Amino acid sequence: MFKDEVKGLIKGKSKEEIYIELLRLTKRMAEEKGNIESKKKLYYISAEFLIGKLLSNNLINLGIYDDVKEALLEEGINISEIEEIENEPSLGNGGLGRLAACFLDSIATLGLCGDGVGLNYHDGLFKQEFRDNLQKELPNPWIENESILKKTDISYDINFGNCSVKSVLYEIDVIGYDNKKNTLKLFDVESVDESIIHDDSIDFNKEDIKKNLTLFLYPDDSDDAGRLLRIYQQYFMVSNAAHIIIDEAKAKGSNLHDFYEYAVVQINDTHPTMVIPELIRLLGEQGIDFDEATDIVSKMCAYTNHTILAEALEKWPIAYLEQVVPMLMPIIRKLDEKIKAKYDDKRLSIIDDEGRVHMAHIDIHYCYSVNGVAALHTDILKKSELKVFADIYPDKFNNKTNGITFRRWLLHCNHELTDFITEKIGDGFKKDADELKKLESFLGDDEVLSRIDDIKKNKKNEFVAYIKNKEGVDINPDSIFDVQVKRLHEYKRQQMNLLYAIYKYKQIKAGNIPKRPITMIFGAKAAPAYTIAKDIIHAIICLSKVIENDPQVRDHLKVVMLENYNVTYAEKVIPAADISEQISLASKEASGTGNMKFMLNGAITLGTLDGANVEINDFVGNDNIYIFGKKSDEIIEHYAKADYCSEKIYDDNPEIATLVDFLVNKEMLKVGKWDNLSRLYMEIVNKDWFMALIDIKEYIETKEKVYADYEDRKSWEKKMLVNIANAGFFSSDRTIAQYNDDIWHL
Ligand SMILES: *Cc1c(COP(=O)(O)O)cnc(C)c1O
Repeated sequence: MFKDEVKGLIKGKSKEEIYIELLRLTKRMAEEKGNIESKKKLYYISAEFLIGKLLSNNLINLGIYDDVKEALLEEGINISEIEEIENEPSLGNGGLGRLAACFLDSIATLGLCGDGVGLNYHDGLFKQEFRDNLQKELPNPWIENESILKKTDISYDINFGNCSVKSVLYEIDVIGYDNKKNTLKLFDVESVDESIIHDDSIDFNKEDIKKNLTLFLYPDDSDDAGRLLRIYQQYFMVSNAAHIIIDEAKAKGSNLHDFYEYAVVQINDTHPTMVIPELIRLLGEQGIDFDEATDIVSKMCAYTNHTILAEALEKWPIAYLEQVVPMLMPIIRKLDEKIKAKYDDKRLSIIDDEGRVHMAHIDIHYCYSVNGVAALHTDILKKSELKVFADIYPDKFNNKTNGITFRRWLLHCNHELTDFITEKIGDGFKKDADELKKLESFLGDDEVLSRIDDIKKNKKNEFVAYIKNKEGVDINPDSIFDVQVKRLHEYKRQQMNLLYAIYKYKQIKAGNIPKRPITMIFGAKAAPAYTIAKDIIHAIICLSKVIENDPQVRDHLKVVMLENYNVTYAEKVIPAADISEQISLASKEASGTGNMKFMLNGAITLGTLDGANVEINDFVGNDNIYIFGKKSDEIIEHYAKADYCSEKIYDDNPEIATLVDFLVNKEMLKVGKWDNLSRLYMEIVNKDWFMALIDIKEYIETKEKVYADYEDRKSWEKKMLVNIANAGFFSSDRTIAQYNDDIWHL
C-alpha cells in the first residue's frame, strides 16, 4: 500500500528528482510525527555535528526503508544510486563531531526532548585531494537549493566588540527510531559570501567577519586573524544558543529564577564554553543579579572533556577576548576573582599569570557535572590531568563511555549482517542492543560461523567495487583488509603503522612472502597547519607508489590512502575490514568510537590499552582482541620524567633504524619530496613526541601473529562473532540513558 504510494512518487523520474521526492517525503513524515516535548529540555551545544548523509537513516528511523527500497527496485533502481546523489554535510571533523551526531540519534530514539545547537558552515571542513602525493585542501560546499535544511524566521542581533551581525536559524529534523523528532539548530549569517574564497584553495580574508563567519569549520588558526575568527565563531554560536534557550524557557512559563528547571546545557568540549558568561550576561539584562545568575547557570550547565592533550585545551589571551567579546570580560574576571578568593592554588585559576583565559577551567568551576568519555580517560583526568580540580569537586567528575548509534553503524551500513542477526535472534536488538549477546549461543554452530564469514566477504567485494569506481584503485578481495581510518594525529600513530608497512615491504623483498596478500588501508585528513601530519600522509602515499612500482612486492602487499575520508567512506570501509587498527599511544586517545564501529561489524581490534579499547578488551576477553604496547601509567611517567629518547632506541636497534631510514632512501625520494620526507625522518629520530618507536617492536610481533591467526578461519570466525555479540554496551542508546540518569534528568 505504502509501497504503491512511493512508486507513484518516483515513476518516470530521474534519479536526482527521485532523491528530491524522497527528501520531501521524509520531511513530511517527520512533520507528522511531531516534536518530542517536555518541560525540561536539553541543549547539546557543539562546534561540530558530523551527521553524514541523512536520507537512508531517516528512512530507517521512519520505518519505511524496506518499502522504499523495494519500490525503487521494481522501477529498476538500486537505492544506493539514490544515496549517491545526496551530499554529505560537512559539519564536523572527526570523532567528537560524529559522537554529537550519534547522540542526537539516540536522544530522539529514547524519546528525550533535546536539540543540538551549532553552526551552518557552508564549506564545512575542507575537502581533501591528493596532488603530487601531498594533501591539498579545498572548500567542501554541500548545501543545495533544496536540502535537509529548513530555514526558520528566528533571528538575533549578535554584537561583537567592533561589529554586529544578524543571525538566521536553520533546522534539520532529527527523527528518532520509531519515535518522534527533535531538531538540530544551525545558526548562520545571511551575509556570508563564498566568493571571498581564493580560487583552488581555502584561503580567504579572515578579517571580513560578516562574509566569512560561517564559511569554514576550524579555519586555519596559525595566525592572529585566524584565532580571532575562531572566537567570533564560538561567540556567535553560544550567543545565539543562549538567546534561544532563554526564549524557549520563557515561552514555557519560566520566570528565569527557575530557569534551570526548563533547560540543561551540555557543553561538548571547550568550544561552547562562552555560553556560561553569555547566559549570566543575558540573565543580568533581565534583572537577575550576578550571584543568582551564576548560581542558576551553574545548575544547568554540564561539560564533557574529550582530551588530555594540553595543546588541545583552549587558552585565549585576554587581549583577543577584549577585542571580540568585551562584554564578557567583566563577567569572566568576576568568575575568576571568586575562584582566586577561595583557593590559593594558581593551577585552579581561570586567568593565569600570562593573561590567558583557560576555557576548561571556566567549565569545571561553573558546571555541575564534568565527564570524561571512557573509563581510563576519566580515571586519568581524576588522578593526574585534572587532579587539583577532582580534589575540590569529587562529586562533579563522572564517566560516560562513548557509544555509537547502531542504526547507522549496523542497520544502515551492513544490511546483510543486520538481516542475518535478525534471522538468528529476532529484531529485539534493534531497540535493546544488549540482546546481541544472544549470538554467543551460536559459537559452536559452524553454519552460523561461515555465514558471518560470507557476509564479511560480501562486504569486502562491495568495497572493492566501490573504491575501484571512486578512485580507480584495484584491491584484491581475497587479501587481508587491515584498516586504520581516523583523523591524522601523531598520537594516533599512523606513522607507526607506516613503519610496519616498510617492515613488510623489506621482508617481501628478502623473500619472506606472506601466506596471503595484505591490503593496508589508511584514511585520514590532516589539519591544514599540522605540518608533520601532512608529511605522514605524504610518506604513506609515497610508500604506496614505491610498492606499486615493484613487481616483486605488489602482488603481496598493497598500501592504500583513501582520499577524503568521511562518514560515507567509513560506512563502506568499516563493514569490509578484517583488522581494526586502534594503536594510539596509551593515555592519549580519550575514547575512540571508530573502534566500536569496527567491533560491531566483526573486525578484530589490534590495539593498545587506551581509551575504550580497555573496555572492549574487558567485554571480548583476551582471546578475541590483540593488545600490545606500553601501558598508560608507564607512558604518563615518561612524560613526567621527560626521559623518553627516540634517538637512543634508533641507535640501539639497527632493525628499527633501517625502517626509519627507509623514509629518505632512493626509492622514496624518486616519488616523494625531500623537504617533507626528511622532516618526518628527523622528527621521528630526534623527537618522536608520541613515541612511535617505544612500541614498534611489539607492534610488529603482534601484527605478525594477527596475520598468522587469520589463517585459522574457524577460530577467526569465532572471534568475529564474539566481537559482534559483545558490542551492545557500545550503543549510544546506553550512553545517552546514562547521561540522562546521572546528569540531565529529563
Ligand atoms: C567514527 C569516525 C571518526 C572517529 O574515529 P576514531 O577512530 O574514534 O578517531 C572519525 N571520522 C569519521 C568519519 C568517523 O565516522
